[in-house]
Amino acid sequence: ARERYAGKNPKSRERYEAAAAALPGGNTRSVLYHPPFPLGIVRGEGCRVWDADGHEYVNLVGEYTAGLYGHSHPVIMAAVRRALDDGINLSGHTMLEGPFAAAISARIPSMELLRFTNSGTEANTLALATATLHTGRRKVLVFDGGYHGSVLSFHGGHGDPLNLPHEFVIATYNDPDVDITDEYAAVLVEPVLGSGGCIPGTPEFLTALRRKATEHGALLIFDEVMTSRLSAGGRQALLGITPDLTTIGKYIGGGMSFGAFGGRRDVMERFDPSRPDAVAHPGTFNNNVLTMSAGLAGLTEVYTPAAAVALNARGDALRERLNALTAGLPAHFSGIGSMLAVHFLSEPPTNAAAADGADPRLRELFFLDLLERGIHVARRGMVALSLAVGDTECDQFTAAVEAFLADRRGFLA
Ligand code: PMP
Repeated sequence: ARERYAGKNPKSRERYEAAAAALPGGNTRSVLYHPPFPLGIVRGEGCRVWDADGHEYVNLVGEYTAGLYGHSHPVIMAAVRRALDDGINLSGHTMLEGPFAAAISARIPSMELLRFTNSGTEANTLALATATLHTGRRKVLVFDGGYHGSVLSFHGGHGDPLNLPHEFVIATYNDPDVDITDEYAAVLVEPVLGSGGCIPGTPEFLTALRRKATEHGALLIFDEVMTSRLSAGGRQALLGITPDLTTIGKYIGGGMSFGAFGGRRDVMERFDPSRPDAVAHPGTFNNNVLTMSAGLAGLTEVYTPAAAVALNARGDALRERLNALTAGLPAHFSGIGSMLAVHFLSEPPTNAAAADGADPRLRELFFLDLLERGIHVARRGMVALSLAVGDTECDQFTAAVEAFLADRRGFLA
């Protein structure tokens, strides 16, 4: 399958080799790499993209949830153009950041006060710094398979070498008996393990974290960078759990660079620069007008609460159809709403170690076979639906999965 792929994509190979002159391995975004070389994408429109060799794909990667609006939503495009027309890099407060923050806070009421960053990584970095400052403690509880950014990544029971130097303790996801003590500054958790395989946190697990964090004075931080798309108010609204701090990113910036952290007023107030005990959080691009304009238009005009319900219902229906196809086979589509991931296992995984039990070769075959059929899913087997994906594309994807299951019966036995 790799050879066929290489044969069909000479221009992507050329791009890859040329880029290696100044980028390590031709890459500036690790998640996009896969052997023998990744595709070079030249253009996108709606839910479709075109690669350097002229192949067309339905994009189901959905920019790992950031691409919720698709590639060319007219409202988003108009908002960005408006911002461009008024000039960029204005060296001051803009008229947009206040209304944008208010729109977010109205949707996610636990974010009483919030601050903007430029990525989810930065949002989580600041949230952890805030929690350690607020509590005067150093330990941070995280979960195996958790991904909170390029310096906050945990798998196989350990953290990445580039991780921030917090005193991390790594626990098992979905274990409601996890131990939380008075030494913890924060519990940092994704309400659905996203990069770790779209594994939903059980209500029992997340409720236990809420209760224990409160009992021991640790701040509960929900990383809703991916899951904020699951309803207007994120997964926390669906569960009725109020974290102390929340981090968001991805689609909420309208497809521009974005992150934000926020939560309890008494915790976030320290960032008020007029206070004598204020802590500083400067940041040249925190209020960049392209993000502020696209994000505000997206939340208020496009991804309304009703649109969120419809998109996630589409995802649920799609997952149900796919799991009907895989019934009796060692394959399962996990996730909630518009976030899906394939696992070549007989049981849906409930934590990262279980997900790691799948044969990685099947995941690669799934990815390459689907590309052949004009469907682009994330290399790790993840799908994030955009608003541009319609019934036709869901049918096309379902048919491609059905064909994969038939073609690769031998490998699945
Ligand atoms: N948290 C979660 C849950 C994520 O999925 C990601 C990105 N995949 C991040 C944080 C980091 O966001 P960014 O890539 O914008 O730094």
